[in-house]
Amino acid sequence: MPLDHLKTLRDRLRKTRAGSAGTPVTFADSHPVFEIVALGVRSGVADGNLSSYLVRPLGTNEAVICDAGTLGHGLKRAEARGILDDIPIMPDSALGRAGHVLKQTVRAYLISHAHLDHVAGLVLSSPEDTPKPIHALPQTNAILAEHLFNGRVWGVMGDKGPEPRTGRYTYRDMKPGQSQTIGNSRLDVTAWPLTHASTTSTAFLIQHHGQAILYLGDTQADRPDGPQNLHELWKAVAPLVREKKLHAIIMGVTYPDGQPEEALCGQLRPKDLLASLRDLGHVCGGRHHIRGLRVLVSHVKETFHEGGHPVQHIYRELQDGNDIGIHFMMAEQSARYLV
Ligand SMILES: [Zn+2]
Repeated sequence: MPLDHLKTLRDRLRKTRAGSAGTPVTFADSHPVFEIVALGVRSGVADGNLSSYLVRPLGTNEAVICDAGTLGHGLKRAEARGILDDIPIMPDSALGRAGHVLKQTVRAYLISHAHLDHVAGLVLSSPEDTPKPIHALPQTNAILAEHLFNGRVWGVMGDKGPEPRTGRYTYRDMKPGQSQTIGNSRLDVTAWPLTHASTTSTAFLIQHHGQAILYLGDTQADRPDGPQNLHELWKAVAPLVREKKLHAIIMGVTYPDGQPEEALCGQLRPKDLLASLRDLGHVCGGRHHIRGLRVLVSHVKETFHEGGHPVQHIYRELQDGNDIGIHFMMAEQSARYLV
């Protein structure tokens, strides 16, 4: 074998084994069960950094991606920072690590709703993707099939819609509260509807051997005279919270507390999130159950306004009102959380 060939092979093997000690990590629990890689974390004009989270049980080569606002760019950026080095991949070609992770490790997409800041990356990476299911509520899958992968806005990448279609993505309609096993994996997922302006959004519970991560797409606060979707969600996950099996909640806070009620566009402010988490504590049977609960805060709006640091601003407002001992972390792009 020529020398440079050997060298390439050695480099590739070294790359595969890298990680463990060397892979950068932003937060690590002492006994982590899941890895969360933030591929994109903002909303608004941050078109290289929009909601997308890879969730993987540690020690496995099985992951799901929760929303895909920024997908290919998010994976490449994570690769460049060495964030993906821990994922056990099978090197088999000229693919970079980001490509291996997309094609081998990611087993499904969980799409909360079809707003562009949650699906743009899915659309753009789809020509290079391997076949996968898209788990979503039927309303969301119908919008993806009719209005996005419809042969006009983009090719027909799903298994519904006009010919010619690739059928690369299989739409898996979910029934609220009923868990599904993700094909070709040991991951279970359950969906619940959320209210988000004029559309239905979704919360996904991802479970592996009974341990869980909860991801919420965009949601508005419950109102006394309106839908109580967050309250219903909290009732469903309360047993996991009490048993310390819920390792993190990923949830959006889009605007600071100063945003007027009529300009929320179905989103949350820090005070809304805090009120809802107090409700979770109540549903669990006492605030002590949620002390130390980790909430990874996503979806802070980026605008063209000069000055101000909306992420720090929102973090400060969350901490100022945090009389319930929640462990808030502001999500950063290309960061890795072991929870
Ligand atoms: Zn939205």
